Amino acid sequence: MTQTPTFADITTMAVGGSIERFIEPDSRVGVIEAVEDADSKGLNLLVVGGGSNTVVSDDEFHGIVVRDARNAVTVPDEVAPVEHGERVVHINAEAGANWDDVVQFAIKLGLVGIEALSGIPGTVGASVVQNIGAYGQEVGTSVDNVEVWDRVEKRVTELTAHDMQFGYRTSLLKQTAQPQYQATLPNDAPQCGPTPRYVVLSVTLKLTHNPDPTITSSQLARALGVEVGTVVPATVVREQILAIRAAKGMLEDPMRYASPWMSTTKQEAHIIEDIERFQALAGNEQKNPANRHSSGSFFTNPILSAEQAAALPEDAPRYPTGNAHEIKTSAAWLIEHAGFAKGFALPHSHAGLSQLHTLALTNRGGASAHELMQLAGRIVRGVHEAYGITLVPEPVFVGVSLE
Ligand SMILES: Cc1cc2nc3c(=O)[nH]c(=O)nc-3n(C[C@H](O)[C@H](O)[C@H](O)COP(=O)(O)OP(=O)(O)OC[C@H]3O[C@@H](n4cnc5c(N)ncnc54)[C@H](O)[C@@H]3O)c2cc1C
Repeated sequence: MTQTPTFADITTMAVGGSIERFIEPDSRVGVIEAVEDADSKGLNLLVVGGGSNTVVSDDEFHGIVVRDARNAVTVPDEVAPVEHGERVVHINAEAGANWDDVVQFAIKLGLVGIEALSGIPGTVGASVVQNIGAYGQEVGTSVDNVEVWDRVEKRVTELTAHDMQFGYRTSLLKQTAQPQYQATLPNDAPQCGPTPRYVVLSVTLKLTHNPDPTITSSQLARALGVEVGTVVPATVVREQILAIRAAKGMLEDPMRYASPWMSTTKQEAHIIEDIERFQALAGNEQKNPANRHSSGSFFTNPILSAEQAAALPEDAPRYPTGNAHEIKTSAAWLIEHAGFAKGFALPHSHAGLSQLHTLALTNRGGASAHELMQLAGRIVRGVHEAYGITLVPEPVFVGVSLE
């Protein structure tokens, strides 16, 4: 094995060039020192987790890539506190812990709050950056606090769930990684974006002890095919969610953990279980290499004003957002109805839409970042021409932009 991986080795899209310096600190102080070292020297810095929401250029990355090797998950409460009549239990997970390892840890303890987020690839650190969500749950709802290294103030601090400003696939951390944020900082501040100003060190989740949880989310109830108010054990919710993910081609490819660059990033027993489940649940299309390498949903679902929503065709999906003046529609529907069917690809390109889901852009084998960006750009333009809506990419782009 060479000294450093390429981005193709450590991202789910399996695209991206070589890395000048790759560091995997296994202590809290080691993570802080690695970040501080890059910042103090003015070097490019990318803190990466599972690489499942990142698309990187094919060119060499000049700078330092830090991947937190810490993955402990603990229950800090000596006596579990009781809040509002239900037993609330906190669990703390280090940033490098695999997200689905944490979900399984919680379910084993009879804790609910994140079971619908089963099977989302990536790490705990990144989960709070984009406020991962699926089937009616979002991680932000279960976050108690996030311990971070503030790259500007150069100190460790604790952000509450309120400080985190969680929203649909966003947070304070994600905002601090946007290009316009840099202008709000002093001139000598480190370069924020693609790595946020705040590097996550650990996350404390606030979960509820309830071995027989009641389904309260209508979205989850719909996904499970039950009524709101039905009691469904968290273990059953998990298995059903994983089956739905398999059918949609939204299961992570577990074979990636066979790579020596990935094999230590998830619990070994869980890797084996995932491979067995993938073999049993995934159909031939998901097993097809053409559909395996993606970053999940490539675009977020657009949030529209009532006026924009009214201009959409009658059969376009419209979902409530909790804000009476805003309506969410489906990016997958827009893409499909703008003329991009499942499996669409540009001529002679190694990138395409998944044959199972129009929202997933895939590397069909040997795709370049350039090919992916051409495809993504074509889709954004096509949807805009058809509906006047500009789709917003969900993954973090490093050295690439829509073409
Ligand atoms: C098959 C598939 C299905 C998916 N399904 C879903 C889904 O249902 N719902 C959903 O929300 N997402 C989904 N995703 C997207 C992805 O799993 C999430 O965005 C995940 O949180 C990314 O985690 P990661 O560790 O891989 O992040 P990475 O891609 O490694 O990093 C993403 C961003 O987070 C930053 N980051 C990473 N670690 C830290 C840290 N410690 N501190 C500060 N910043 C950090 C990086 O700098 C980067 O900007 C899916 C992806 C795939 C491939």
